[in-house]
Amino acid sequence: MATRSQVEQYIPVAGETYDVVVAGGGPAGLGAILGASLQGARTLLLEARSFFGGVAAIALWMPMNRLLLNGGGRGGVHDLFVQKIKSFGPLAWREGKRNFIDGDGLHIHPDYLRLACMELLEEHGCHYRLYSPVTGVLMDGHTVNGVVVTGKEGRQVFSAGVTVDATGDGDVANLAGVEMVQGREEDGRSMPVSLVFALANVDVERLFDFLQDSKRFNALLDEAYGQGYKVAAWYSFDRTTLPGVVSVNNGALRDIGNIDATRSHDLTVAERLGIQVATDFVRLARDKRIPGLEDCGLMRVGAAVGVRDTRRIVGEYVVTLEDAESGAEFDDVIARKYGAVDANQLYIGQMKSGFAYPYRSLLPRTVDNLLVAGRCGSATFLGHAAGKSMGNMMELGQAAGVAAALCVDQGVTPRQLDVRKLQAVLRQMGVHL
Ligand SMILES: Cc1cc2nc3c(=O)[nH]c(=O)nc-3n(C[C@H](O)[C@H](O)[C@H](O)COP(=O)(O)OP(=O)(O)OC[C@H]3O[C@@H](n4cnc5c(N)ncnc54)[C@H](O)[C@@H]3O)c2cc1C
Repeated sequence: MATRSQVEQYIPVAGETYDVVVAGGGPAGLGAILGASLQGARTLLLEARSFFGGVAAIALWMPMNRLLLNGGGRGGVHDLFVQKIKSFGPLAWREGKRNFIDGDGLHIHPDYLRLACMELLEEHGCHYRLYSPVTGVLMDGHTVNGVVVTGKEGRQVFSAGVTVDATGDGDVANLAGVEMVQGREEDGRSMPVSLVFALANVDVERLFDFLQDSKRFNALLDEAYGQGYKVAAWYSFDRTTLPGVVSVNNGALRDIGNIDATRSHDLTVAERLGIQVATDFVRLARDKRIPGLEDCGLMRVGAAVGVRDTRRIVGEYVVTLEDAESGAEFDDVIARKYGAVDANQLYIGQMKSGFAYPYRSLLPRTVDNLLVAGRCGSATFLGHAAGKSMGNMMELGQAAGVAAALCVDQGVTPRQLDVRKLQAVLRQMGVHL
């Protein structure tokens, strides 16, 4: 790989029919498409942006947490994914941190990640297309029969036996008329929308030594804020695969207020202020001689602002914070969520790591032939924040993709699927249910 003609084998012809069409190529979408293709389905992955990986590729080296389980394999598509990333060697990945939020993760070079996704799709015979936002649905009454994509060519349709919505924003479900909710229940607040960035020419060891004294760092930020620098609510630093380069996650500009990332208006505000936060951080780090950052420079910002939550479907079951805290078990478990409850500034807390996620939460209540996985799945605000790591989202996607393939094979709708058959296949794939 890869010549032009080899790559073109995987790019669909407009109007084609597939067993399973997945919209959105983030962690959930990758889990779904690979899960479906492993069951022999003819699959198509449609992605709005110019790359696959979703937030994992946008958010420069952020650890893809919970790709592993207790340091070992998590089974299914996770193992394929980890194996592929590791095959690129140490320039591509490094082990993640281990604290109560981060764990069992890999920091992945964003460009190797893009390549890994495409190679995996090709190796598993999945058709794929970038620059292909889903902007409509093919409906027959309450049944989804495929999607409409609007590219530079105009409007094109792809029919599907079963469609999986892994767009993060629940675009397909929303277009299909599924009941949706958004934000924190009491006030509609969303988690911060962050433009992450990477710094070069960093003395990494001195920086991490300095960061141990968080009081000193925070005092310095407060001082800078008082002096007019555009300062984020918080910063979190990660080592990367490159010497002298760190990646910086952050809580967006202090006092920015709520950003509704389903509105182009709000996203424009977030991009404008995000780039200011990144460039001002470099200025303040140099001006204030932050140890290790005295000579740092801005290497790049993420490809776009990273969005933590927007619309969620109202499904047959709605996962709650109580489920996470009590360690809920369900007869129709199809995945597990590990880690902590992390809604950033809005809530951070412990949960029973490994609580069960039910199949019913992938099923929209009022629309048929559609499965919804990832951050737009059926949960309350904190039910989603409980274990929202990328590895967990991939496992939700995997269950949706496998379910979709089984439905096509058995000639049933997702609501009619015998969940015990789905569980049996997932267990055969090595998934720890
Ligand atoms: C700044 C930031 C930092 C984070 N840090 C971490 C971390 O360190 N570790 C961790 O594990 N998790 C982290 N998370 C959380 C994690 O990234 C998300 O929970 C996870 O990516 C959600 O996966 P997803 O596939 O549901 O959605 P996304 O990753 O958002 O992927 C959705 C995909 O769908 C595509 N799409 C959207 N609309 C359409 C459409 N209409 N048609 C076609 N395609 C479409 C998007 O372009 C995107 O590729 C972070 C999130 C953010 C925003």
